[in-house]
Amino acid sequence: MRDAIIIGAGVTGIYLLHRLKDLGLDATVLEAGDDLGGTWYWNRYPGARFDSESYSYGYSFSREIFDEWNWSEHFAGQPETLRYLNFVTDKLGIRDHMQFGCQVTAATFDDDNNCWRVEMADGRIETGRYLLGALGILSAPTLPRIDGIDTFEGEAFHTYYWPKDRDVELAGKRVAVIGTGATGVQAISEIAPKVGSLTVFQRRPNWCAPLHNARIDEAAQAQYKASHDEIFEKLSQTRGSFLHDVDPRSYHDVSEEERLALWEKLYGSPGFGVWLSNFAEVFLEPEVNAVYSEFIADKIRSRVNDPETAERLIPKDHGFGNQRVPLETRYYEAYNLDTVHLIDAMATPIERITKTGIKTSEEDFEFDLIIYATGFDSFTGSYDRIDIRGSGGQKLRDKWHDGPVTYLGLQAAGFPNLFMLAGPQSASASSNFPPSIEACVNWTVEMITHLKANNLERVEASPGAEEAWTDAIKAGYKGTMLARAKSWFTGYNSNVDGHDKLRHMMYLGGAPTYRATLADVAAKGYEGFELK
Ligand code: NAP
Repeated sequence: MRDAIIIGAGVTGIYLLHRLKDLGLDATVLEAGDDLGGTWYWNRYPGARFDSESYSYGYSFSREIFDEWNWSEHFAGQPETLRYLNFVTDKLGIRDHMQFGCQVTAATFDDDNNCWRVEMADGRIETGRYLLGALGILSAPTLPRIDGIDTFEGEAFHTYYWPKDRDVELAGKRVAVIGTGATGVQAISEIAPKVGSLTVFQRRPNWCAPLHNARIDEAAQAQYKASHDEIFEKLSQTRGSFLHDVDPRSYHDVSEEERLALWEKLYGSPGFGVWLSNFAEVFLEPEVNAVYSEFIADKIRSRVNDPETAERLIPKDHGFGNQRVPLETRYYEAYNLDTVHLIDAMATPIERITKTGIKTSEEDFEFDLIIYATGFDSFTGSYDRIDIRGSGGQKLRDKWHDGPVTYLGLQAAGFPNLFMLAGPQSASASSNFPPSIEACVNWTVEMITHLKANNLERVEASPGAEEAWTDAIKAGYKGTMLARAKSWFTGYNSNVDGHDKLRHMMYLGGAPTYRATLADVAAKGYEGFELK
């Protein structure tokens, strides 16, 4: 029996494996893909890139890695990020401890031996004391539930499964994109000028803002290398572990001139400042949010030539920032091309996919390629897709039927020795992912070290601690605008049964508070956990 089985060779799994190997533990990574990289292995669609600054997305645990790796763009594209993760893995010398092509189908806790038995699709079995989920929060892609989806005779795939072994021919092709979340927005912007024609099927628009990406020249490279300490100090202080933080002034204390000056500056600046460096009231007070939303709506109007199309691209059902804000590069300008058409899939819904294309309530379209940018069964989907059975055979899928229930976003009562790194109800999605995963990994590795040092074989969240944590998570949503928005943040997905109401997926108290809570639990002898 191994000490630990990690599922997933993405940003989390790589660092976790490194820490466990460093302790001399027998750990292996089981990865469904043919290689490492997780999100950055799968999502190869054109335009896939960071919207966190590259140097804030890299790992912080090794100064050597930080110094040796040169990001070429302020917001790196998928190929570069995948190269980075391969570089890190080889530098750490841990590749041999990863097994690829392992689709984990089931995991069962053995109460007699306090260990997990993990089954893979090809019949392989692994057993380990600890099962460590490094599954990511957006790794269970969902196709739309539209009649006839299997009948299309052209090429079609979900963006997550963009082919990796061949180039997809775009030139001259009649292409459809369904979905306008962050993925659709990146893909549409990139392919619009390259295809014969592009038809975008949009149900609800998102609020998007410019990324302002640029290459990192020599001077900027030297500057960011010299700023190592400042960068990570800043990431450790901000609520979302981003380089951007809320404006300290109150919206109500500044003149209209000052307010507009800030907003113009943010709209013209790189990255998430347009979302995260605003006045706090923008996200707390609906009236203020409406003023900012109108400011952004005017920007959209100024970038789209056809006023009707512009109005269609402006969200009416939620204010700016209450769903994930896609950052874009010439997204709105794509709709000024004669070859790009925007279909309102609310007014004229898609009725079916046909052999030759897409039929809406109004029109029959013919396509060569259909791209489904239709999102993910967020947070819990990747766990639900594995038949996970805890103590006494209870299923995690059943326990989480109405939404996740966890302690610290790391464990679920009844599922001993299973840790979910950066999982549901942790601070992962409410913050820049890598710093959050490093915190979760460090804490879990310390916990495992403690258990081994004390000859303990079993650790389990107590039902009381789990209930209190989940109640606190739910309370965090009360009265927020976020709670009313229907997106993957809040667990809505029209393509998954039962995901049509708010699911409390995220810790909303901010990354520094989350880390302090973890530290406090450990300092109190792992309060809320039963150790045996
Ligand atoms: P998403 O935000 O959930 O968007 C899915 C889109 O598909 C929505 O526009 C949705 O419309 C539409 N859709 C779903 N089912 C449909 C149907 N049956 N008919 C018509 N439209 C349908 O998913 P995503 O765009 O993949 O993004 C998910 C997250 O991944 C992002 O928010 C982001 O956090 C992450 N991501 C990050 C980056 C990056 O820059 N680092 C890039 C891409 C993605 P409705 O809104 O009407 O449901």
